[in-house]
Amino acid sequence: MKTLDSKVLVVGAGLAGSDAAWYLANKGVKVVLAEVKKQKLGPAQKIDTFAELVCTNSLKSLNPDSGHGLLKHEMKALGSLILETGHEHAVPAGDALAVDREKFSAAVSKKLEEHGNIEIINEEIVDPIKFAQKHGADHIIVASGPLTTEPLSQWITDNIGGDDFYFYDAIAPVVDADSLDFSKMYFKDRHKPYDESDGEADYLNIPLEKEAYQKFIKELIEAEKVPAQNFEEEKFFEACLPIDLMAERGEDTPRFGPMKPIGLEKEDGSRPYACIQLRKENLLGSAYNLVGFQTRLKYPDQVRVLRTLPGFEEASFIHLGSVHRNSFLNAKKLLNFDLSSREFPKLHFAGQMTGVEGYTESATMGLYVACQIWRKINGKESFRFPVETGIGALVNYIMTVSKPTPSNINFGLLPTVELTKEERRKRKERKKIKKAKASARAREVFETIMEEIH
Ligand SMILES: Cc1cc2nc3c(=O)[nH]c(=O)nc-3n(C[C@H](O)[C@H](O)[C@H](O)COP(=O)(O)OP(=O)(O)OC[C@H]3O[C@@H](n4cnc5c(N)ncnc54)[C@H](O)[C@@H]3O)c2cc1C
Repeated sequence: MKTLDSKVLVVGAGLAGSDAAWYLANKGVKVVLAEVKKQKLGPAQKIDTFAELVCTNSLKSLNPDSGHGLLKHEMKALGSLILETGHEHAVPAGDALAVDREKFSAAVSKKLEEHGNIEIINEEIVDPIKFAQKHGADHIIVASGPLTTEPLSQWITDNIGGDDFYFYDAIAPVVDADSLDFSKMYFKDRHKPYDESDGEADYLNIPLEKEAYQKFIKELIEAEKVPAQNFEEEKFFEACLPIDLMAERGEDTPRFGPMKPIGLEKEDGSRPYACIQLRKENLLGSAYNLVGFQTRLKYPDQVRVLRTLPGFEEASFIHLGSVHRNSFLNAKKLLNFDLSSREFPKLHFAGQMTGVEGYTESATMGLYVACQIWRKINGKESFRFPVETGIGALVNYIMTVSKPTPSNINFGLLPTVELTKEERRKRKERKKIKKAKASARAREVFETIMEEIH
């Protein structure tokens, strides 16, 4: 294979770094891949090989009409090492791709170590720019993940991120609008009078009377919580407290916090005892975020407790709430669309650091950045993946979201698809049809850009 003069430093051989290094090396680019694991393991890591799946061993759904199925289709087209090796070490898991994590990680390491264009350096990187200069690399990808080591985190804070580099992530649940009973809720923005000429309000409110509120608070307190990992101190930002922790502080605390009813009088002027607000997660209103409902409740209990709310009896969740340590940037403010730093255009970020969440999402961000660097090396402009594709939708999300909140892939990030009258009438199948249509459109669009990407 012809090798090129350009050299790329990749920091971190996790999901994103491994896929980025593999993509570029296969194009004939020299890659220096730096990984700290042989020196010291991170707090969530157990093995010293690459691409470690630190929690579940699942790379999620293979169903072509799911968000993760869509990403896998695009990863395959881009020659993903993670996906290819995942299939080679798959274990039975229904329609999901689960892997034998040790064999998977060992195989990814072996392939990268044996690649003629990749030099592995087992070292902790503190200053990626200096390290790149020392090794003659002209482009850099920082893919050091959600638990980036302290000295590198400090360097990023000092040189790039400042207050826009975050270390903690508190996620509120997001619910599928189609699964809610709207008749038990009402639209109203806080302190805004009802005025039909303004159109639909942005917030949907769930009113609770005293008895229902007290019962709900009791459920929150008694529900099972995820215990903090040993590397996560039980220390939360006051502005972002889990709702269950608020409930533990006192029965009325949530009612004076995110569940306050002030300014949310119903159309007849009456004010509920407490209110839960739902905010549209996307322009379509196909998903709603439970405002201020970041929570430590274990998933089964979270679903059970939330389904006790009026209108939530059959709620289906796009993702559930959680609170965990996470390092990620405000991409919209600090990065360009090709995920290069505005401050240092030759330095790019990939993986979870960019504000996506999840193994496959992180790996695709590695492939995306590698594509963009490959174009730069060839004197081409960066290329915007259309928002109709899975990768394009993820990049568009992190580059446009008003409050950075790491997200998994989901169809709410893609533009809406039109349903025919007949399809709209099939209430039960509507969601499935929408996904199948969005997924078919994504594949078609991806096909048209393949030549441009390569
Ligand atoms: C505790 C925890 C559990 C998670 N569980 C799941 C889950 O179950 N499912 C899911 O889909 N997602 C999960 N995630 C989310 C996340 O998407 C994955 O962690 C994913 O691995 C992120 O990919 P990445 O490539 O960005 O980072 P990583 O895969 O973490 O890779 C980063 C690599 O960089 C290395 N590194 C760090 N600092 C340095 C440095 N200074 N110099 C050199 N190397 C460095 C690390 O050792 C690591 O190998 C979890 C995250 C955390 C923190």
